[in-house]
Amino acid sequence: LSGKLSDVFDGLSKRGKLSEADVTEAMREVRLAMLDADVALPVVRDFVNKVRERAVGHEVLDSISPGQAVAKIVNDALIDALGGSGAVPLNLSATPPVPILMVGLQGSGKTTTSGKIALRLGLRERKRILLASLDVQRPAAQLQLQQLAERTGVGSLPIVPGQRPVEIAKRALDVGRREGYDVVILDTAGRLSIDEELMQEVRDVRDATHPVETLLVVDAMTGQDAVNTAQRFNEAVGITGVVMSRMDGDARGGAALSMRAVTGAPIKLVGTGEKLEALEEFYPERVAGRILGLGDIAGLVERASETLDQEEGERVAKKMLAGKFDLDDYASQIRQINKMGSISGILGMLPGMGKLKDKLGDKELDTSIFKKHQAIISSMTKAERKTPSIIKASRKKRIASGSGTTVQEVNKLLKQFDDMSTMMKRINKMGLSGMKQMLSG
Ligand code: GDP
Ligand code: MG
Repeated sequence: LSGKLSDVFDGLSKRGKLSEADVTEAMREVRLAMLDADVALPVVRDFVNKVRERAVGHEVLDSISPGQAVAKIVNDALIDALGGSGAVPLNLSATPPVPILMVGLQGSGKTTTSGKIALRLGLRERKRILLASLDVQRPAAQLQLQQLAERTGVGSLPIVPGQRPVEIAKRALDVGRREGYDVVILDTAGRLSIDEELMQEVRDVRDATHPVETLLVVDAMTGQDAVNTAQRFNEAVGITGVVMSRMDGDARGGAALSMRAVTGAPIKLVGTGEKLEALEEFYPERVAGRILGLGDIAGLVERASETLDQEEGERVAKKMLAGKFDLDDYASQIRQINKMGSISGILGMLPGMGKLKDKLGDKELDTSIFKKHQAIISSMTKAERKTPSIIKASRKKRIASGSGTTVQEVNKLLKQFDDMSTMMKRINKMGLSGMKQMLSG
């Protein structure tokens, strides 16, 4: 199927604007590919219509083929529908202990995911984690979580037989507070199918603990059922994020697309195996590739993106050389970083960041700082982005409140930008060859 799809894309060979006929033909295939990937029909329809509007009349740049252009439009629209570029991190911004509530059907992977999150937060962010099982349905459930906690090296709530889920949850928060835990993960019981008793239990726990995150764990292999489950849970208890488990199987991830459309909640994490390390951030761009049939259209998109990124890079490099690099250009660089999900490739292109790159090696960076920078820049006026030197105290205040940051953070960004500009002036003196060295280093 996807082979056919790329044939259609490759068949679009005219230059200039994309015609209605080009796009309609390509969209028919996209529609089939999406249905094949388990995307719900209404979601597919809506998506295809939106993309058609976007694509017809779209100017095809000389540097890429029309097929690449449509593929890229489809891919970008998929990424948007999946929640935009980059991963959405867990929200832990509350007074500790921060409660995270895990919900979902039995067997979806709640307990395993609780352990995975505990391991990740403990290891990467050095948080003190307390795991608490509220599962009084299955006799061994609390024991299962306790053993998981031992293996992971995080805390677990002592088991008190006979307690109800709400009592256990309150006790978990008490212990969390008293013993200085940063995060308390509340692992609830599931049921084989959704019933009112389960929902009431979860609502009671929610109301008693006010979780900062209510994460729904769904099994990606169940396709459309996972979407229905998500809808029901969201209506009944309200969810803040989704974890899709078993993405290591051959599920193509179409459910992911519907998930966002149906609940409005972002997919935050993806389970990719039974091991406790097998948890990844959800990157819309990766799943988009999977939905379209990896290695095929994805190849077209990649080539188009490379070409466009290269053009963008050259455009920015020219502005740098002319000493005209502004905050809009910086924002454009950040977008590329977010798009790639990894920044070591781009960092080398940003003067002054080479050292940071060396320090990071090839690791994925916490991109939250860039998200912040993006927010700050988008709260600036056009004039401020072009000429940052006009940003004085009152403007800083306005920008900070507009972007949900602080004046200190605005200052930090401006300082960093200033350092970059200084670097660039130096590069200017080095001339073009120095610049090239810098870009390739
Ligand atoms: P719960 O009933 O929701 O708590 O589900 P469990 O966490 O007990 O998981 C049920 C089964 O699914 C276990 O055998 C897990 O090892 C397995 N499992 C959980 N997450 C994943 C995953 O991402 N990939 C795979 N392959 N198996 C998983
Ligand atoms: Mg469980």
